[in-house]
Amino acid sequence: MSSPMTGDTTADLAIIGGGFTGLSTALHAAEKGIECQVLEARKIGYGGSGRNVGLVNAGLWLPPQDVRQRMGEQRGAALIKTLGDAPEYVQSLIQKHQIRCEATRTGTIHAAHSPKGYADLARRADEWRRLGAPVDLLSRDQAAEAIGSERFYGGLVDRRAGTINPMGYVRGLARAAQGAGARVATGVTAQKLRRVGERWIVETDRGSVVAKSVVLGTNAYSDDLWPGLRQTFTMIHYFQLATVPLGSRSSSILSGGQGLWDTGPIMFSLRRDAFGRLIIGSMGTVIGGMTGLSRRWAARTLRRLFPDLGEVEFEHCWHGRIAMTPDHLPRIHRLAEGLYTPIGYNGRGITPGTIFGKAIAELLAGGREEDLPLPISEPKRVTSAAVMSRLYQMAFTANQYLKSI
Ligand SMILES: Cc1cc2nc3c(=O)[nH]c(=O)nc-3n(C[C@H](O)[C@H](O)[C@H](O)COP(=O)(O)OP(=O)(O)OC[C@H]3O[C@@H](n4cnc5c(N)ncnc54)[C@H](O)[C@@H]3O)c2cc1C
Repeated sequence: MSSPMTGDTTADLAIIGGGFTGLSTALHAAEKGIECQVLEARKIGYGGSGRNVGLVNAGLWLPPQDVRQRMGEQRGAALIKTLGDAPEYVQSLIQKHQIRCEATRTGTIHAAHSPKGYADLARRADEWRRLGAPVDLLSRDQAAEAIGSERFYGGLVDRRAGTINPMGYVRGLARAAQGAGARVATGVTAQKLRRVGERWIVETDRGSVVAKSVVLGTNAYSDDLWPGLRQTFTMIHYFQLATVPLGSRSSSILSGGQGLWDTGPIMFSLRRDAFGRLIIGSMGTVIGGMTGLSRRWAARTLRRLFPDLGEVEFEHCWHGRIAMTPDHLPRIHRLAEGLYTPIGYNGRGITPGTIFGKAIAELLAGGREEDLPLPISEPKRVTSAAVMSRLYQMAFTANQYLKSI
């Protein structure tokens, strides 16, 4: 899938990062005739994109009214509309490029973990319905029917949303970008960015790329390539375990094929894949590999939710990094002339990564910064980011421990 990089090269656009953001930028830019060189340090999907739950959500983490309140009526409403329509756009790319990623269009369920969580969902549902979105508020009984568990206080089904195998989607974007003419090199780390005259020089461990523009699609996996960038967000982890394929044993769980996440302050997620595996996750890292604390947490949580399921075996576990911003809104920064980075997706990156990549490509093809889905902003350091990351990690570990006994 990767075209090797040997020695120095030139391109119109150098893109650092082989995730949704970098590859969507590459695909859309290459389709506009921009010569692109993608540089990925590890492999396609190594970052959040390949480790994702697979919930193709509409809108942002925040309810629409809160987005408008934080961004202003006009820009907020425009972003909500763009990201509300974004699952449809992701599905259209999957169709157009025949991406094999187990895509479903059956919606997602945001499940209430408490009466307070249900009140939050009702508020979201009211606003989405006012905006004409196809969302349904589920009563406790309806949620029990849809989820196959009596443990939730209700739910919000968003019929614009769906699920994917995220690694399949990100690999498909890489292939589509290459098909459109982009060069995609893996195992190449960008080590330094230098501005010389009107050009950027990206120094890597395999040679340099001279380019007019550079896009950093490194999000929570940002290193020190652009000093200070990784101090602009608080990094948290999210972990998942996948059971072996469970066949008909799992068929009453999320029988409509929706992916689920809950309203708990330490979020929990569940999806049934195309092979009948249950993929269960929460905030934090995998602790103790396939036999330790996280496995006990997963087994205990499934038993609590689905007492009839019985013992299950797990076959995979992994975790990844999420970039949280203080106001839970993503950013598009112009770090310098011709150097952009969309960043800070707050755990919601399938649709924003795809859409912001497309928008950056349009900008670099001659568009205007004013037409980006987000106003360009200056990077700001979050002074407490490292301390907050550690505190969150402690809270998430305690949560795994308490819920595994
Ligand atoms: C466990 C988990 C579950 C999630 N679930 C969901 C979900 O269900 N729905 C959803 O919408 N979002 C979800 N997210 C969020 C989403 O996955 C991310 O927001 C998204 O993947 C970010 O994409 P990206 O392309 O910007 O960055 P990434 O996919 O993180 O890619 C960044 C890449 O940059 C590379 N890189 C970094 N530095 C360099 C360098 N110097 N040189 C070369 N390459 C470099 C890294 O190797 C990495 O591959 C989840 C995230 C995690 C971690």
